[in-house]
Amino acid sequence: MHGALNVAKFGGTSVANYAAINNCANIVINNPNTRLVVVSAAAGVTNHLVLLANTALTSQQIAELIENIRKIQFAILNELKNPSEVEDKLFSLLDELESYARHEEINFRDDLKDALVSMGERMSSLLVSAIVREHGAKVINFDVRKVLRTDDRYTEATPNLEMIAQLSQQLLLPELEHAIVVTQGFVGADDSGRTTTLGRGGSDFTAALLAEALGAQTCEIWTDVIGVYTTDPRITDRARPLPELSFEEAAEMATFGAKVLHPATMEPALRQNIKVFVGSSKEPSKGGTWIVRDCEHEPAFRAITRRKDQVLVTVKTPKMMYAQGFVAQVFEIIAKHKLSVDLITTSEIAVSFTLDNPPNSMSEKMNKETLLELSSICDVKVERDFDAVTVVGNNMHSVAGVSSQIFAAIADFNLRMICFGANVHNLSFVVDKNDSENVVKVLHAALFE
Ligand code: ADP
Ligand code: ASP
Ligand code: MG
Repeated sequence: MHGALNVAKFGGTSVANYAAINNCANIVINNPNTRLVVVSAAAGVTNHLVLLANTALTSQQIAELIENIRKIQFAILNELKNPSEVEDKLFSLLDELESYARHEEINFRDDLKDALVSMGERMSSLLVSAIVREHGAKVINFDVRKVLRTDDRYTEATPNLEMIAQLSQQLLLPELEHAIVVTQGFVGADDSGRTTTLGRGGSDFTAALLAEALGAQTCEIWTDVIGVYTTDPRITDRARPLPELSFEEAAEMATFGAKVLHPATMEPALRQNIKVFVGSSKEPSKGGTWIVRDCEHEPAFRAITRRKDQVLVTVKTPKMMYAQGFVAQVFEIIAKHKLSVDLITTSEIAVSFTLDNPPNSMSEKMNKETLLELSSICDVKVERDFDAVTVVGNNMHSVAGVSSQIFAAIADFNLRMICFGANVHNLSFVVDKNDSENVVKVLHAALFE
């Protein structure tokens, strides 16, 4: 490759209809360094596909959901200048989609679920490539499964970095020399070539992984907001966009609920020092947030995030006071079931921890098998309906008054669990889901307004 390489990723709302995709095409064409474009499924499509994959439905219900998806794709197809160029391919993708959706084992086999759920990106990448081509560029639609190798943990696969780098250099890089390549986010393939997916919101992660594999200098995440804000602008209109963030701050925000970035997005960026830009595909002139290694300012408080649908698990044994290895045993079980723990607190005879369990996720996290196994060594209490709120900042453990300022602001709320000290970038606590919005608003007013 000559010159700097930029990878541009467009999310679901950015590719929701013809006009929105046209904005994306302009953004791509206006930056000659953009050779690789990663796209999500059109807004709403993945939710329909997840329903088809995970719910026992009547034939009529299946037909209705497929019809909804078809309408979204056809509305785009019908506005193309030359629909016949991609029509046949779109029809055959829809046929493939229908055959998975009607497969008798669809609700029971994770490999089939991933094959089905990947169809949204496969269709949108076809349509987006056609629209970028309308702007006069040479464009190819590339099947990401040729390079995005993962393990076979369907619905939440882990990328194989070495294979992705090797395959991307071999199969993807040469294509970038002579065309703009449009490919699918979120989707991968295991060693035997079966389709996998990276978990909901995974297209951001794909863009960062491919940027890393190709040695790109920058990675742009184009979405429906003009950058990363001090908190989710849907929670309060007082939230304001941040011009600059550090890798660590952004990673912390993504991990603790800022949906604008998939939690793993910053990992490849950090490893390869790739600058990440977040901006709005509708309003590119408004600028956005640059996420970089070294920021000019690293304030004590940078942002507030909320992570919804936390399951609070408390394991308790009277033996813990004397028994060594209880905590190790608990976490061995957690690890065996591949659950990821977010927050942990301990007391003498108990350990509490939170697990993420969002609706629309592909798998129920605190499943029966895990519960059963934990119950064999201790008392287990599982409580739902909590959200985690996190204040993200810098040197929080060493700046005087950080925690008191936070706790004074939210003195009226009941905090179920508090985590502070292990990480200099965050202070997190768990609150009742009905309180979390107000907690964020009150905190935002105290720390940022
Ligand atoms: P896309 O489909 O482009 O991936 P997402 O819906 O996944 O878009 O992410 C964008 C949304 O993230 C925004 O509309 C906003 O509501 C939400 N969001 C949550 N926290 C933040 C934050 N701190 N800054 C900006 N957006 C945020
Ligand atoms: N389409 C996928 C989802 O809705 C991936 C993504 O949009 O990033 O989760
Ligand atoms: Mg997203």
